[in-house]
Amino acid sequence: MDDSLYQDADQTDEPEIKMPVQTELLEILACPDCTGHLQAGDSELICADCKRKFQIQNDIPLLYPKNQDISGFREKILLAEIEKQSRTGEQAEYDAIQWKQSKQEFWKIVQKKIGKPPKRILYIGAGYDPGFQPFQENGHLFINLDLVSDKLETLKNEHKAEYCIAGDMHALPFQKQCFDAFIIIDLLQYERDLKSILQNMMHFLKPEGQFFLRAINAWALFRFFKPIVMPRMMYSLIHKIHDRYKKKHHWRYRYQFPTSYWNIRQHLAQLGCSNIQVFPIDSYPGLNQINRTIYHLLSLIKAVPIYLNYHYMLSAENNHNSSFNEVLKRVNSFDFDNAKKPS
Ligand SMILES: [Zn+2]
Repeated sequence: MDDSLYQDADQTDEPEIKMPVQTELLEILACPDCTGHLQAGDSELICADCKRKFQIQNDIPLLYPKNQDISGFREKILLAEIEKQSRTGEQAEYDAIQWKQSKQEFWKIVQKKIGKPPKRILYIGAGYDPGFQPFQENGHLFINLDLVSDKLETLKNEHKAEYCIAGDMHALPFQKQCFDAFIIIDLLQYERDLKSILQNMMHFLKPEGQFFLRAINAWALFRFFKPIVMPRMMYSLIHKIHDRYKKKHHWRYRYQFPTSYWNIRQHLAQLGCSNIQVFPIDSYPGLNQINRTIYHLLSLIKAVPIYLNYHYMLSAENNHNSSFNEVLKRVNSFDFDNAKKPS
């Protein structure tokens, strides 16, 4: 642990007893290895069960599971950074605007559907996205989770994010059924076993909790190589050749495998989600001039911005634990003290 991080606190004249994380956060945190409760140490968090200690770096708890594949995710991040930096010109500018607008469209729908504060919201893979701001300002407890703590530091320092946790979506460091809503943007294309990842997330969502999801659409209009009708190996190979031909030195498609609304909908329904809704998105990155016109015209057909956009967006409600929770509610509300004892 880097002691210099805490120098400022040590140098104050009257040392104050300060919690290493906010109480409202500590209440819902859990060990990513054994799900034990986390307790506050002097400058770290300690699992009450397995006694593992977790560092806090610049106010961000680092709650990675023990078996974290750090090198794998570093590589993905590096590729994403390269992609961002290497493009200039009119097309790149157009794409940047479309990406931004697409996010804005997404957040607008979440705001509309989230309900009154205070809700506990988890944004998985928050990155540099300041989308939390209106929710935080409105009194929701909005937690930004990312694998990369540097990104979260940017969110804290530049955008005043209150709650940030560095962790892995495969081993969420929270207690079961503690969130009202999950937000996942453009992450599912990296996952191989979608059903089990969604199933795992369900455990952390309250009954009737909401799911807001945006992902890269396998059926996007101008994307020739539809992974949906193509085995993953073939898809990767074709894109590898394409990237070589275009002289790209990195090939992101080794990792990516776009999903579809129907695909995710089926998983969610099987997991007991209801009220699954799909929303239109107008912004479409990556279109050249001709395709922009074509898309614009085709968008007059209502289904196009819903099912054939670059992204798809859906919301769903968790009913997975509803019946169990009904029983739990009844047990909790039962007045044991004043109940008649059998004579
Ligand atoms: Zn533990």
